[in-house]
Amino acid sequence: MHAEIIAVGDELSSGQRLDTNSQWLSQRLGDLGILVTRHTTIGDHLDLNVSTLQEAAARSQIVVITGGLGPTLDDLTREAMAQAFDRPLELDSASLEHIERLFARRGRPMPERNKVQALFPSGTVVIPNPHGSAPGIDLSVEYRGNAARLFAFPGVPAEMKQMWDESVQGRIESMIGSSRGSLFFRSVKLFGLGESDVEARVPTLIARDRYPMVGITVSQATITLRIAGRAQSSKEFEKLIQPTLDEIHSNLGDIIFGYDEDEVQDALLRGLVNSQQSLACVEIGGNWIQSAMQEVNGASENSLAFLGGVFLGNHDTARQWCASESTTETRNDDDYLLKLAEQARRQFSASIGLAVAGYPSQSQISSQPPGTAFQFTFAVSSVDPRLDGKLDQRSMGGHPEVLNPRAAKSAMDWLRRMLVSSS
Ligand code: AMP
Ligand code: MG
Repeated sequence: MHAEIIAVGDELSSGQRLDTNSQWLSQRLGDLGILVTRHTTIGDHLDLNVSTLQEAAARSQIVVITGGLGPTLDDLTREAMAQAFDRPLELDSASLEHIERLFARRGRPMPERNKVQALFPSGTVVIPNPHGSAPGIDLSVEYRGNAARLFAFPGVPAEMKQMWDESVQGRIESMIGSSRGSLFFRSVKLFGLGESDVEARVPTLIARDRYPMVGITVSQATITLRIAGRAQSSKEFEKLIQPTLDEIHSNLGDIIFGYDEDEVQDALLRGLVNSQQSLACVEIGGNWIQSAMQEVNGASENSLAFLGGVFLGNHDTARQWCASESTTETRNDDDYLLKLAEQARRQFSASIGLAVAGYPSQSQISSQPPGTAFQFTFAVSSVDPRLDGKLDQRSMGGHPEVLNPRAAKSAMDWLRRMLVSSS
């Protein structure tokens, strides 16, 4: 059994408003163990609504529609369902009374136009909408040899959610029986390899017919392997995915930094907390590590692990800041960067100082041909001799919006790995 979702409204197809209903509904259907295979977004055009409903009803067992149940002429879901499945609209007097009562309570006469909201394709089981004038439609149809059950909701997210929770979820549960379990997900987070290199190391993992299924996505150089499986409980799910996790660990263990919502900075903070170290950083030409840390620094144990950072606009300021004796003009002079790291460490009384240099400005990036690599240098000063004096040079290119955050992530991941191997 699978489901699909149709979101209706010109405000959605034109990009004026984001379709958040489909995301919410997919998650709820997933909770019931039902796979959602398709989202469709369409504008308010009757023919388009009719054909989209028919296509969906011909291939899916559950079709959820949101939007288009308002009283105005651009709200066409009712009419489209009636036409698509040859079910003439009929008045439901209980719904009409409900709508009249809503207006009476608001002390307003009911506009004639709202009457249409009490019309339903014949055979509909009404979905009550306690706070709104648009009751939903629950209609079972046979279309091109497929039995489909359609649930139509108003687009207003609060009304849709209440109607789902109070009526529709229970109806779907009794439709499928409670034995199927829910869909669970676990994400494994990787950093340090490209997407295709990851796939090359685990060639059969991403196969579409594999179960549990694994998907791969990449966001700002962080790779996510998302495992999906059906189970009765999270404990059963853990058991189900263990062989998959083992396979991922044995082939990619060196680049795994965390799970689910983790980012590289969370993993670095965890490493610092675990090894009872504290970090201060200094960055020249950007403040990418500092802003990443700022986002995750809410928890109190983290505020003792990341003590602060310094942003220096350019190398001249940087030399003054650390009063380096170095007189060479080389941008990434080793001694000078180690000195910067040491200065940061001392200034914040941290046990580790991390210095990063090499972030190009947007104008430097755009003045070079696309794909140009830039040199980054990372340096560490530490009271721990196993970390002190470590230096790394990386040559990296990429889209201007991604390059600098990726370099910062590389520096954080580099330090995280050193913490792991020295603990
Ligand atoms: P409708 O039921 O089509 O009259 O939609 C009522 C309002 O709900 C719209 O004006 C939007 O602001 C909102 N809305 C409709 N569809 C969605 C959707 N898919 N996601 C989020 N908001 C929506
Ligand atoms: Mg609409």
